[in-house]
Amino acid sequence: MTNKGLLLVVSGPSGAGKGTVCSRLLSRHSDIFLSISATTRAPREGEVDGKNYFFLTEKEFKDKIDNDGFIEWACFCENYYGTPKDVVEKMLNDGKDVILEIEVQGAMQVKSEYPEAVFIFVIPPSLDVLKQRLTGRGTETEEVIEKRLETAKWELSNAVKYNYILINDDLDNAVNKLESIILSEKMRTARNCELIESFIKN
Ligand code: ADP
Ligand code: 5GP
Repeated sequence: MTNKGLLLVVSGPSGAGKGTVCSRLLSRHSDIFLSISATTRAPREGEVDGKNYFFLTEKEFKDKIDNDGFIEWACFCENYYGTPKDVVEKMLNDGKDVILEIEVQGAMQVKSEYPEAVFIFVIPPSLDVLKQRLTGRGTETEEVIEKRLETAKWELSNAVKYNYILINDDLDNAVNKLESIILSEKMRTARNCELIESFIKN
């Protein structure tokens, strides 16, 4: 367990700020990697295939499911999303820390396959702020925003299944808290047993 990277699963309602918090974290830590998901949703303005997502057709996505190409996958607000298996497993086996920024259904699949993963649920300071952030982002239509806010209530009811609740109020504050979680998780006894054993053996 010691030599494997830390698998961090970050979920939360759309607009809570998961992407913003994770990208700020990555800008501080070049040794943490964000898994690039596959999706059937259309690219937003400025999104690049292979950088933000691997944008697939529904047929391509379903073929990848059939070929056991995903760690997890889910349908969220009428689009498919999934975490490619090969890259993430290689990074973890190479000892690299990996973040999956995924929704709740997928996170629960990861929980049963990777019980040692760390589950973090990001929430905004209030529902009003969530609405403002989702609207202010300006990437979705009114109809899609409504659908995402409706889904948010169900997602929030699943927050208790996560190890940590991260309130994204002030951005730097939220990133500092995420750093604290990672630091503490790395100090867990279970993640340091091999190191202790190596001292005892020598
Ligand atoms: P998510 O990935 O959870 O859907 P985003 O990271 O896209 O959310 O953030 C949604 C919107 O909220 C974006 O416009 C982003 O700039 C803004 N935002 C994120 N975090 C904060 C914060 N701490 N304070 C103010 N605005 C934020
Ligand atoms: P968006 O369309 O805003 O990029 O993402 C919508 C939701 O899908 C977000 O909650 C995001 O975390 C989630 N998501 C992104 N990639 C994946 C993935 O690979 N698997 C799952 N299950 N959810 C994902």
